[in-house]
Amino acid sequence: MVKSERNSVITRPSEVRVKDFEEVSQGFTYELMKAEAERCINCKNAPCTTGCPVGVKIPQFIDCLKRDDLDGAVKIIKLDNNLPSICGRVCPQEKQCEDKCIRKLKLGGSVAIGSLERFVGDYALANKHEVAKTACKKNFKVAVIGSGPSGLTCAADCAMAGLDVTIFEAFHEAGGVLVYGIPEFRLPKDSIVKKEIAQLVELGVKIKYNTVVGKTIKMQELLDEFDAIFIGTGAGLPSFMNIPGENLNGVYSANEFLTRVNLMKAFKNGADTPVYVGKNVAIVGAGNVAMDACRTAKRLGAQNVYVVYRRSKEEMPARWEEIEHAIEEGIELLLLTNPVKILGDTKVEGIECVKMELGEPDSSGRRRPVEIAGSNYVIPVDEVIMSIGTRPNPLLTREYAALQTTKRGTLIINEETQETSVKNIFAGGDAVTGAATVILAMGAGKNAAKTIIARANSKQIKE
Ligand code: FAD
Ligand code: SF4
Repeated sequence: MVKSERNSVITRPSEVRVKDFEEVSQGFTYELMKAEAERCINCKNAPCTTGCPVGVKIPQFIDCLKRDDLDGAVKIIKLDNNLPSICGRVCPQEKQCEDKCIRKLKLGGSVAIGSLERFVGDYALANKHEVAKTACKKNFKVAVIGSGPSGLTCAADCAMAGLDVTIFEAFHEAGGVLVYGIPEFRLPKDSIVKKEIAQLVELGVKIKYNTVVGKTIKMQELLDEFDAIFIGTGAGLPSFMNIPGENLNGVYSANEFLTRVNLMKAFKNGADTPVYVGKNVAIVGAGNVAMDACRTAKRLGAQNVYVVYRRSKEEMPARWEEIEHAIEEGIELLLLTNPVKILGDTKVEGIECVKMELGEPDSSGRRRPVEIAGSNYVIPVDEVIMSIGTRPNPLLTREYAALQTTKRGTLIINEETQETSVKNIFAGGDAVTGAATVILAMGAGKNAAKTIIARANSKQIKE
């Protein structure tokens, strides 16, 4: 058995990368990829695969890498995952496949499955790997609402099965959070996201941009034209703390801040939708979104960037790697600290916080943060970015009230089929789960596609 330690990817030095938006992680070289692939011991029962929400056949694709068969590795991954370059970069592998890897505890650390997947995905993009098209077209029309990972995956699987697919997207670009939320320095848009989406168009999927279903076009119009509908509209409505001062100039939601920068390129001179970046910026929250917002503010020239979080570092929900990268880039963590008021006349001048301590565990299993009375203090900041979570936008469910939702506004579905309360309308991703992950959204899109394809097949038999 190979006893070697896990190989690290090449990472750009923090003092260099903090000045630009280029990708932080450079991935594996060919030699590192080979060395890492050799660490996989090809376990018979493949526990790693059970940790992958879309069931990528991990030992099989790694085995191809050991034999320098990159084309074989592409084919195996693409059977289950049509966005490997994206997933290899942003999936929380440490909590999924790599968490289940047999090497994790005693054998030098889990195999770096995510970085190997990224290597294969990038190879496929660089070498224009053919997409698996079907010649057999079926008379079955599918409308996909939203072009995030759930919609893209559902669309790809349906198109590969010969169905006639149209995506309706509210923005002028496809990708959902992949383009408007996750910054360039973690997920390059032109070289990765756009290329993976272009493969979908090659499959024959049509994309209608600038189309807000529920406003520009009604649900009933889609029902009249299409045999099935998939709703993958995500959870883009930001939550706020409802504390005094949240309406001051200089307070953003992380979604708005990141959308202005990533999608609207607000940092460029003369941009239509500019963004304000303060000298001293507080980001409230500690998830992946907060890490993206604080690192973006730093890159845009903020001098002091604070992450304000009411629990301790151990409870921060962001990926560990992102937290470490943020600290290396000079972001300051203000832990066990909770904002109670944003100060200022018309513009933000400071944020009043109170110190917290950890009490008994709450319903999430994490220790509940409890205020320390009289510990209030002010951090002088001129910008506050709220990153405390998002919910689904109610626009579509208000316009088409037959769709049943939970109290949190998420769509209710049958988990086996992904079907909503309305026949032939399916849903998945953050619109169903609330804010979650790229791979879970993809898994839901895949699951819905399975049912939609089965319906198309049975319609064809009847015809
Ligand atoms: P989305 O990606 O939200 O896409 C929904 C799409 O639907 C959007 O394009 C939207 O414009 C469109 N839409 C909405 N309403 C309508 C309508 N009425 N008509 C037409 N179109 C509509 N996950 C990870 O796994 N790893 C990470 O590192 C990570 N980092 C993140 C960083 C940020 C800043 C954010 C915000 C999220 C992050 N996530 C991460 C979460 C992940 O991106 C989401 O879970 C995932 O994108 C959800 O996919 P989705 O398809 O459900 O929706
Ligand atoms: Fe390879 Fe780890 Fe999967 Fe075993 S669990 S097959 S070592 S990646």
